[in-house]
Amino acid sequence: MKPRSLFPLALSLAALTSFAQQRDFSQVKINVIPVAKNIYMLEGSGGNIGVSVGQDGILIVDDQFAPLAEKIEAALHTLDAGKLKFVLNTHHHGDHTGGNATFGAKGATIIAQSNVRKRLASDANSKKEALPVITFDQSASVHFNGEEIKLLHHGPGHTDGDSVIYFTGANVVHMGDQFFNGAFPFIDLNSGGSVEGYIKTVAAVLEKIPAEAKVIPGHGKLATVDDLKSFHAMLVETTSLLKKSIADGKSLAELKAAGLPEKWQSFGTGFIKTDRWIETIYNGAMKK
Ligand SMILES: [Zn+2]
Repeated sequence: MKPRSLFPLALSLAALTSFAQQRDFSQVKINVIPVAKNIYMLEGSGGNIGVSVGQDGILIVDDQFAPLAEKIEAALHTLDAGKLKFVLNTHHHGDHTGGNATFGAKGATIIAQSNVRKRLASDANSKKEALPVITFDQSASVHFNGEEIKLLHHGPGHTDGDSVIYFTGANVVHMGDQFFNGAFPFIDLNSGGSVEGYIKTVAAVLEKIPAEAKVIPGHGKLATVDDLKSFHAMLVETTSLLKKSIADGKSLAELKAAGLPEKWQSFGTGFIKTDRWIETIYNGAMKK
């Protein structure tokens, strides 16, 4: 099943919960993709999962939807017999944290930026076991399976609680929803997200990582640094183009009618269509 057809990103947590309840997850298959060294990516439905396996056990980044927890566990066991010790959440959205309650109850330690816990805790549907146990404001590190795994909060972006996860030894970065490979991103302005912050974060990651790093996007296929560069170029070009038109006094309807240059057309074939991306930039600009 294509994750692209299932992007439920624009929905609130409550809506996500009912989305997860209504959806038939029985057909979802979890694909295991080798990334580098002891790091893997799992594709299923919802955000891509990053996995570290080794002598210390298993650590995962994000855990998709609650009904998929068993399938995720089965996929992890094909990689390693070790215990799932840590779950890192890149942000609070339900397609990235749905498995928390199951894995938390089984003893995995959940780690996330402080605002992730706040947002999950404010949802009456969240179970106690689903909440991050360790939180941080700017950065944290987990020393695991022979490398330092860094969680860095770059400020408001996709939401106000995003972390980018750096597997410093394996040279892999998990971007969470700070990266939609080949597609316009969803930016959750209602959860403290920021269009400018989003672009700054992508730029900061590009400055940090070596050219041969592997990049796990929140959504889309496993990526290279070049893929992240073209995503960044799209963000910069489309926003500066639209901001110029907004400064010229153009209305949202006029911006949508004018559209975006042909070369970015393929970016609008995913969950976030071109009109929606234009709306996000417009609303972001009006919010300031
Ligand atoms: Zn998200």
